Amino acid sequence: MGAPTTGRALVGVSACLLGEEVRHDGGHKRDGFISGPLTRAVELRPVCPEVDIGLGVPREPIELARRGDDLRLVASESGTDLTAAMRSYAEAKVQELDAAGICGYVLKSRSPSCGLGSVPIDDTETGDGLFAAALSGLCELLPLVEETGLVDDDAREVFLQRVLAYRRLRDLFDGEWTIDNLIGHHTRQELLLMAQSPELHSELGRLVAAGGGDPAEVEDSYRRLTMEAFRKKAGPARHADALSHMQGYLQDRVQEAEYRELERKIGLFCDGDCSLSRVLDDFRLLVKKHSVDYLAAQVYLDPQPFELLYPTPPLLNDNQGNSPDAAQG
Ligand code: SF4
Repeated sequence: MGAPTTGRALVGVSACLLGEEVRHDGGHKRDGFISGPLTRAVELRPVCPEVDIGLGVPREPIELARRGDDLRLVASESGTDLTAAMRSYAEAKVQELDAAGICGYVLKSRSPSCGLGSVPIDDTETGDGLFAAALSGLCELLPLVEETGLVDDDAREVFLQRVLAYRRLRDLFDGEWTIDNLIGHHTRQELLLMAQSPELHSELGRLVAAGGGDPAEVEDSYRRLTMEAFRKKAGPARHADALSHMQGYLQDRVQEAEYRELERKIGLFCDGDCSLSRVLDDFRLLVKKHSVDYLAAQVYLDPQPFELLYPTPPLLNDNQGNSPDAAQG
């Protein structure tokens, strides 16, 4: 298994969610969002742990069972214990995926192998499937989600934003890095971090400004704080702050009429009458036109998760007589 081939972030996925007929009964659990919009935004790498350990299709159903303090993976009818085989496979497979550059994982809920927190155990409790447990244990900060956690647009954006943040951290830290690399990375992320969490933006800024110290500790803190900043979706008020900050930066660099138009667009955004992607489009044009290097380098002006998932933005009235955007795909 190699690195991603498309240039997009590499994300693992339970193979049955992409429509592969690998379930115990020969069926699949194709998910329309995962096999549709998500495939345009990331490079999905399907994995079926049960097929990979040689159980075949069709196969006897398996389940989790508690034996004292231990959790066992057993075949439901024959009682065959598959725990050692699955744990050994999962550890090696997760290491392989990590080495390939994986930046997130979408897991099938309730599966004794793939489920994350939703798997019935002896009908008395729920827990993690053995493959999912290996993923969360070995890649602590890796964005993980079950397909049931991707049913609305907000949840989808949060997951993709986390995947993209994780990828940027990998790009920075996976090889040799210097404090100058970290400063450059942090500078490019500033406005996005400001929108995500002003508090963590400040804390990360202090960490970077302190410089020096044990590189491993700096890296660990920077990774943890960054992923914490992307735990939730940024609300409109925080985006408005980040947009106003960018507008202020442009004040002496653009024409008066351009500055006022940005102000008007931010106002429309705050009133819910203009999409974020449309305001960012305006900023991109001006930043390019006036060659504003600091803003041109900002990750915040890259395509946002919603634009990656649904290239045509949602219909919103921007009150200026423009032809409306088509409905989202
Ligand atoms: S849930 Fe996981 S183990 Fe089960 S069929 Fe899907 S990919 Fe395979």
